[in-house]
Amino acid sequence: MNNVVGFKCVECAQTYDVAEIEHICPACGGNLDVLYDYNWIRKRLSRDSLSADRNFSMWRYRTLLPVAETSCVPPLAVGWTPVYDCPRLAYQYGIGKLLIKDEGRNPTGSLKDRPSALAVVKAREAGQDIIATASSGNAGSALAGMCASTQLRSVIFVPSNVPAAKLAQLQVYGATIALVEGTYDQAYDLCLAAARQFNWYQRNTGHNPYMTEGKKTAALEIGEQLNWKVPDKIFVPMGDGCIIGGLWKGFCDLHHLGFIERLPQMIGVQAENAAAIVAALNGRGLAHEGAARTIADSICVGKPRDATKAMRAILESAGFGIKVSDDEILAAISSLARATGVFVEPSSAAAFAGFVKSCEAGSIKSGETVVLMLTGNGLKDVDAVLRTSKAPYRYPPVLAEFADQLEKNGFDFRRSSSS
Ligand SMILES: *Cc1c(COP(=O)(O)O)cnc(C)c1O
Ligand SMILES: [Zn+2]
Repeated sequence: MNNVVGFKCVECAQTYDVAEIEHICPACGGNLDVLYDYNWIRKRLSRDSLSADRNFSMWRYRTLLPVAETSCVPPLAVGWTPVYDCPRLAYQYGIGKLLIKDEGRNPTGSLKDRPSALAVVKAREAGQDIIATASSGNAGSALAGMCASTQLRSVIFVPSNVPAAKLAQLQVYGATIALVEGTYDQAYDLCLAAARQFNWYQRNTGHNPYMTEGKKTAALEIGEQLNWKVPDKIFVPMGDGCIIGGLWKGFCDLHHLGFIERLPQMIGVQAENAAAIVAALNGRGLAHEGAARTIADSICVGKPRDATKAMRAILESAGFGIKVSDDEILAAISSLARATGVFVEPSSAAAFAGFVKSCEAGSIKSGETVVLMLTGNGLKDVDAVLRTSKAPYRYPPVLAEFADQLEKNGFDFRRSSSS
């Protein structure tokens, strides 16, 4: 890796050579930043070289990623997900522009494919063929899929209440599934201990410094897809805080390289009863461990494992943290789907709910451009929707009766779709 110069601890600022370190800071146990040689990178990557690049996946940014020149990457097409412009929503909420980044389009349906693809590369570089991770569902299904595509083995620790579709993904990809009778936080601690004991390569969020690097590729894409015009605010759902920290790293990389002229404000959204990072931001100091409860399983985290990077992203960017209720999250799933055609899982809907709440609070200026990170696909958790939607009417298979009943049920035959 000619582009990586070392690691730096986010807690004690100690720096290390790449070869010295496996995962966390040996001195204090803090998470690490990956440090780059931007001069080396600048000679090999430019806005022009990118616009000529036909590789439409996260690997178009390989020069900015911690992978050896000779490494093979998994074959699944991860990244280069669409950004959609939503002018009607922007008008409705009185802002300049609203854009949504649809990460649900990734191979296993979430942003977690990015860090998991990188984990597979790093495990192979380390000569390991078993990778373990704790997960609320998506990190695990992503890792299981990436491992299946490269014939590595995966061991996935998930809480036993994981949504059915995410469990089905683990099963179909052939992962070894550790269904833990406990919370995600407990599954995480068990995975750490087991990986240490059995010498498995681990992708655990926060603990593995490369996961930030995989996640940052979504920000690199936003920069490029918006033609290097940086949005004003980015709304990101937060559980462990690794995604928001990763996106911030991506924007800072682009800024160091001179590809963008300014940085966006990072807005972190948490569920009301799983809000350790927002609580810490609002003056209660470091993120405190506590019980977590929310319908949004991907952000149901009581002990955030990457809180320092998350808080740094928000504070350095002059952003803010905001909490939303489960009812707001549930309402946001269908209102976003109906307004845009994009169906997201509850944690991603939290980003939209946080945006709506911020508009109502006057926290967004009228001309601003806002990006919502829609981190995961709605098909991963249909229960959340089915439980709150009215069951559809059952019609007899007879046209005359169908038409009568349809009208009785309130269908307006005269309304055109454009009105
Ligand atoms: C993991 C995940 C999150 C939260 O990311 P953190 O890095 O834990 O903050 C949000 N949404 C989805 C869909 C996820 O899979
Ligand atoms: Zn340290």
